[in-house]
Amino acid sequence: MATIAKVVVEISLDREFDYRIPAHLRDSIKVGSQVNVPFQSRELRGFVVGLSNFSAFADKLKEIAGVVGEKPLIPDEIMKLAYWIADYYCAPIENAVRTVLPSAVRKRGASHKKQLVVKLVDGASSSVQEKQPALTDPLLAMDEPTPSAQPNGAGCSVYEKLPPKQKLVVETLRQHGTMTVSELKERSGCSESPIKTLEKQGLVKIEEATILRDPHAGMELLRTKPFELMVEQKSALDTICASMDKEKPGTVLLHGVTGSGKTEVYLQAIQYALDRGQGAIVLVPEISLTPQTVDRFRSRFGDCVAVLHSSLSDGERHDEWHRIRNGEARIAIGARSALFSPIENPGLIVVDEEHEPTYKQDEAPRYNARDVAVMRGHLQNCCVVLGSATPALESFANVKSGRYELAEMLMRVDDRSMPLMRVVDMCIEKEKDGRPQIFSRELVEGIYDRLNLNEQVILFLNRRGFSSSLQCEKCGYVAECAECSVSMTYHKGAHKLLCHICGAEEQVPARCPDCKDPEFKYAGVGTEKIEEVLGKLCPNARVARMDSDTMRKKDSYRTVLDKFKTGKIDILLGTQMIAKGLDFPNVTLVGVLNADMSLHVPDFRAGERTFQLLTQVAGRAGRGEKAGEVIVQAYTPHHPAIQAARSLDYDGFCSQDLEFRRELNYPPFSHLVLLTFKGGDEPEVMGAADRFYEHLEAILPASVTHCPPMPAPLARAKGLWRYQIMLRCEHTVKMTRPIRHVVQSIRLPKGVACTVDVDALSL
Ligand code: ADP
Ligand code: ZN
Repeated sequence: MATIAKVVVEISLDREFDYRIPAHLRDSIKVGSQVNVPFQSRELRGFVVGLSNFSAFADKLKEIAGVVGEKPLIPDEIMKLAYWIADYYCAPIENAVRTVLPSAVRKRGASHKKQLVVKLVDGASSSVQEKQPALTDPLLAMDEPTPSAQPNGAGCSVYEKLPPKQKLVVETLRQHGTMTVSELKERSGCSESPIKTLEKQGLVKIEEATILRDPHAGMELLRTKPFELMVEQKSALDTICASMDKEKPGTVLLHGVTGSGKTEVYLQAIQYALDRGQGAIVLVPEISLTPQTVDRFRSRFGDCVAVLHSSLSDGERHDEWHRIRNGEARIAIGARSALFSPIENPGLIVVDEEHEPTYKQDEAPRYNARDVAVMRGHLQNCCVVLGSATPALESFANVKSGRYELAEMLMRVDDRSMPLMRVVDMCIEKEKDGRPQIFSRELVEGIYDRLNLNEQVILFLNRRGFSSSLQCEKCGYVAECAECSVSMTYHKGAHKLLCHICGAEEQVPARCPDCKDPEFKYAGVGTEKIEEVLGKLCPNARVARMDSDTMRKKDSYRTVLDKFKTGKIDILLGTQMIAKGLDFPNVTLVGVLNADMSLHVPDFRAGERTFQLLTQVAGRAGRGEKAGEVIVQAYTPHHPAIQAARSLDYDGFCSQDLEFRRELNYPPFSHLVLLTFKGGDEPEVMGAADRFYEHLEAILPASVTHCPPMPAPLARAKGLWRYQIMLRCEHTVKMTRPIRHVVQSIRLPKGVACTVDVDALSL
């Protein structure tokens, strides 16, 4: 039996420490156990990551002080995954361990909630027992006397003799069953004293019980039955099930156009896993933005679904996690981190909208849940399904190379036609009227038509606020954030200038700070401005705006969507919040304002992102009986990304974009590692990046493409200057090994931090 445990502690030191396992703990300490250990002069929490009988420091070792819980908190496979993440993403192992276990489970004092509950002493709670009480039952006498049983009226039961308050308490418990003391007080309207008296008489029991904090309490969903599948759905499901049946299941890319019924395929594939005695994990990009999707899983599978929602309280999260750990919940659904749910024997992992950048964590470890899902599938012999209407080029390439299987669904359910997309050239619109237009004539007419038909409209613009900059008409001064290299956005409602990078707020100046001229120009439009213009264009329409300014409150998203669903809103206007997953049959027109906005950013993925966004947004139209139409306004209408989205040509777009990426050796033809140096003093940041690069360059293999440090596209954010080194190579380790080496061998100035982003998605 092992005598030495390798432990990582809760502070980031990126190393393991050896501890002796005291004899009385040898049975209970396993890999994955959470332990208390003496560390310098204090006690720290940590995790056992390995067991051994030898240590180089054998004679100097301290002993483990104690172990938390009976079962190891981190199951073996998840621990393996943590190691893989730390290694691949170049992150400290402690960070990886922290990532795979929610803090609500990990932290001190995390436990089930215990409360005092009151229950009737056996026998009184159910009517069956009331009629046939055991003779020794103390409640025999509490039974309400039936006239025939008590013919002479002599045996007035204990119940009859109880004073009214106590009677009320018993009656409440009979009706509603065991409940907490506070609930009982509330329901019966009595104080604690009659309850106590009943307890003294032995008629009720008060005891401690574990209360599950159920995030879905009070939300009943109608159970749904599986649909009869369409031909393409059936064949996709067959591909997935066949993969699950294999000895070594693989990854299936499910490319299904919006409305092709991917979710139904996931649901039936999960059923297949459950029938085989296996569990499942479903990842969705942002759970608060996909309430409709989550509801569909809960209404099919009920309580065996655990939802890991970012707005859960710590207590709820703790309990949901344990419901999974003890096998009560067999399906875990949630955002990124739900991937680490301790589902035992998973048969299927679904990553919905697999192309979404939100699957990438933006702090160490900077992992991509889609890629780690494939790794978990590999480690646990479990099938992974990546679903999207616009799969990432990386996944497309993995199909081409034979690494993933492909299942395609190119038709909408019930053969509903894909919406017709029209692209309007806004340069021509401008020429017609001689000034920049917000709405083209086509779009305005389209909106009027739909409103007349009592149909609904979605308008999409990926910029919040009123106007994107405030400029002096005379000298050209633009209000910029003092801390970031971006202009401030004007918010009319709040009458403030806001920085969308750091959130800084400023008063709107009365005059130009440079030339003192009082005239300002408001350039570039945001959703707030659109709302105002809409108010003038169609004053009778009911418009709701959905962006992070209007969706501050917890339930506002659901509330607005409910209103839209029930027809209390005519036009839904919003940012990327409304691009995904929404399914409203009465929406027959989707308008996209300024579609080029996402094209003109310095990122090799700009085309791909624009194509994805347009396809997703367009997919919101025509999901019911009526045909849908999409009007896209753009200044560069002939751009390949816009044209490909218009003609629904995913393959064409990919082939073209892949050519461009191959020429420049960008992903998926290489892996990309981005090193970012940040600090408050620009020369110091630049100097540190240069010195790092000198060391790195000397040891990088020839197959790595690299160039000297450069200012990041966003050169300054939150007061910190940013310099970057970009590396590309077919093999990640050829970059991460040398990087680790340099990180360990040189010391950066105190004021400069360096982050390593493997497979970076944003530059
Ligand atoms: P996707 O996720 O691919 O955009 P959904 O799964 O949301 O598509 O399906 C679109 C709509 O079609 C949903 O309302 C869904 O309930 C319905 N649907 C899916 N499959 C079927 C089917 N086989 N028969 C009838 N309706 C279906
Ligand atoms: Zn700022």
